Amino acid sequence: MLVAGDTLNDLSMYEQGFKGVCVGESEPALLDATADRASVLQARLSGCGGILEAVGHFGFLGPLGVDHELPDLTIKGKADLVMVYHRLPYEEVEESGKLIRRPPSSPNGILPTLLSFFGRGQRGSWVAWSIHDPRKGRAFEVHTQVDPEQYPNLVAARVALTKDDVDTFYKRFSKEAFWPTLHTFWERAIFREEDWVTFLKVNRLFAERTAAEAAEGAIIWLHDYNLWMVPAYLRPLRPDLTIAFFHHTYFPSADVFNVLPWRREIIGSLLQCDYIGFHIPRQAENFVDVARGVAPLEVVETSGCAPRFLTYGCAVGLDSMTTAIRVHDRHIGLGAHPVGLDVGRIDTIVQEPACQELMETLRQQLRHTRVVLSVERLDYTKGTLAKLLAFEALLDVHPELIGKVTLMTICVPAAREMTIYDELVGQIEQAVGRINGRFSRVGWSPVQFFYRAFPFKELIAYYLMADVMWITPLRDGLNLVAKEYIATQGLCGGNGVLVLSEFAGAAAELHGALLTNPHDPHDLCDTLYIGLTLGKAEREARLKEMYQIVCHNDIARWGEEFLGAVKATRRTQLSLLTEGAA
Ligand code: UDP
Repeated sequence: MLVAGDTLNDLSMYEQGFKGVCVGESEPALLDATADRASVLQARLSGCGGILEAVGHFGFLGPLGVDHELPDLTIKGKADLVMVYHRLPYEEVEESGKLIRRPPSSPNGILPTLLSFFGRGQRGSWVAWSIHDPRKGRAFEVHTQVDPEQYPNLVAARVALTKDDVDTFYKRFSKEAFWPTLHTFWERAIFREEDWVTFLKVNRLFAERTAAEAAEGAIIWLHDYNLWMVPAYLRPLRPDLTIAFFHHTYFPSADVFNVLPWRREIIGSLLQCDYIGFHIPRQAENFVDVARGVAPLEVVETSGCAPRFLTYGCAVGLDSMTTAIRVHDRHIGLGAHPVGLDVGRIDTIVQEPACQELMETLRQQLRHTRVVLSVERLDYTKGTLAKLLAFEALLDVHPELIGKVTLMTICVPAAREMTIYDELVGQIEQAVGRINGRFSRVGWSPVQFFYRAFPFKELIAYYLMADVMWITPLRDGLNLVAKEYIATQGLCGGNGVLVLSEFAGAAAELHGALLTNPHDPHDLCDTLYIGLTLGKAEREARLKEMYQIVCHNDIARWGEEFLGAVKATRRTQLSLLTEGAA
């Protein structure tokens, strides 16, 4: 719905919650009254011209730019599996005006795993965005080869976005509106209607490109909340497709999620999927609770969570979860699939002489102290400040540890555009300065603070030499660092201790971690102390248990189990259809 007017008499129309346009040459009083409304465009052209301008502005007819032409949806694509991911499976960088490709630098191996599904002759397509600047006059190639030798049947299908679109859709809106809400920090969220319009536009472009790539009955695998609205656009275009969605980020309870102004649209879109996967049962159950508030929902299947997941033992534990629901006659499968690691890749790094040398050097330099390691991105969800304060309290309560324990904090800076983190970094630096000022001795500082990203290979050396890994997010979808530490220690026969927030998804999976509540300063301090004083036999037993879990549930198993569950849901849907017809 778009309302259009040109005099002050029309003002009430703009107050009904619709998008609106004040066409060119409108009365100044109307322009004044609507000047600060994001949902109202003050058009340049008068009359119908202004209305058409608004239709384009709000994206009603499609994006403005190179991808403006709708794909011809009467011609189906060739891909039996379409991966829809925000990133391409290779990196594009501009060097001396030329676009160069590089292998992905993603450390956790998710991209190679997703790519491996295309190595068996399956015809596939990988839909992702690519920044395109029409002003540079360079032609935009939608299709590119990914790796003709390894994946001869896979093409990348690129969605052209301007840098502005990417900044709004990915760096600003996602981080300012969705990220805080998903992690239960809803008071920090900023909701802008015009950003939502861009989000819809980008999601629609992804859906249209996906529809054009997919063969009849293909499986579509969508990734994460950036693409929440793709199913809503895709389902009407291609009812024949099996649409699966994996949610990589935490999914909060209804009380928090419902704060989102667009919750009905988002849940309505997700309910167009055939299968939705989350890391852990708690997140799937939260989704069911949210969806129940949007549409009449029937739980048709549940399953017990133990022994794979902790039940009553941690903040995100559950004893049973919903595995299938019915909404408006649609059968939708749900599952818990915590992302795993490519342990073989970590093993290769551990064996490299450079890694062993770095580990030896670090050990030598830190030989008089025990090392507590903390690795995370700069983000208020990660609980870095609470951790520093708890470490200060530890040195106050246990002065015998002064000079004997060092906290190494690796904190990866956020992108420059993400100004919401500026205040946090100041607070962290202040805390580090105060603690070091209070407790440092000649030759020893309690906190070593590294405000930069380490190459994955170097990080492995730090994992190898750390006595305690201290991971304290206030809320986290999973936390791969926890698993990487366990894999590294396990591979080299170490006996390091993992102290892990019970609010990280990985806590529900890693039986053997010392769980801590990062919202409770006493517990943070006490559990770290326990971690530092644990006997060798117990350290070894705990690490062994976690190492087995990390090795067994690796990244390959994650992918296979997810796709297996998608196909099983499809079979159930088909048999329900057959039963219904009979
Ligand atoms: N990481 C890295 N260098 C660093 C810090 C982190 O390569 O200096 C990697 C780390 O190995 C892990 C990822 O970044 O694979 C962080 O993933 P995690 O799930 O722990 O947290 P997220 O940042 O996704 O919330």
